[in-house]
Amino acid sequence: MNFSQQLSLIKTLVPSGEVDTRMDCPFCSGTNTLTIKRENADLLWYCFHASCSAKGNHEGEMTMEQVYETVVTKEKEKEKDFVMPKSFVSIFSTDKCTDYLKKNHCMESYIKGKAEIKYDVKQHRAVFIIKEKEKVKGAIGRGLNSEVYPKWFMYGSKSYPFICGNTDTAVLVEDCASACAVSEVHTGVALMGTSLPDSYIPVLKKKFKKVIVALDRDATTKAFDISNQLRYYMDTEIKILQDDLKYFDKPQIESLFQ
Ligand SMILES: [Zn+2]
Repeated sequence: MNFSQQLSLIKTLVPSGEVDTRMDCPFCSGTNTLTIKRENADLLWYCFHASCSAKGNHEGEMTMEQVYETVVTKEKEKEKDFVMPKSFVSIFSTDKCTDYLKKNHCMESYIKGKAEIKYDVKQHRAVFIIKEKEKVKGAIGRGLNSEVYPKWFMYGSKSYPFICGNTDTAVLVEDCASACAVSEVHTGVALMGTSLPDSYIPVLKKKFKKVIVALDRDATTKAFDISNQLRYYMDTEIKILQDDLKYFDKPQIESLFQ
């Protein structure tokens, strides 16, 4: 069944208003495998049956309140263009910075031009530049010794993720170094934690066909939460890791994701 046929059938299955339900799937006849959700004006559906392709999302009309929120948020973001501080200098200014990048498998992505990385003299951090195409949106800095607090610092807006790579499969990881390391195989996207900020969802929808959520064993539940948020829009997969991807070299990353 194509998208619009699925949509018209789904609409007949649920009442109007907020819905979050699970039922037998009319597409594959699976028992209790179909989830349907209506949030705000969006209608989302997904079937868990392995051989069923029922999945979709339909954006309904926004209420005035939602329109206002969207416009106001966009305007606010426009206001603050990120200006790179003068304290951001070349990573080769100190061995501390290049040592960190080598040890955490970031150097390859820097050399290949996939990631722009600087050294912040003022805060003593390795700084990963967040870009949307060529536009700089902000930066994320990792302290280079234990006295630098907090360990990770966000410069500028937090609404756009650090992305390293150009492939149409994304691997969601906990931090920028892991995003660089995994970019040897797929595109790395740094969550800067273990949950998915709402503002990242449209970015992921636009850029990727598939998302692999790759988190630490401790964050298994979080990985499933993230996959639940994204599976209506694209293929999702979960990979539970024994260790951070930044500690893995290229062959190890390749064998993990093949
Ligand atoms: Zn189904």
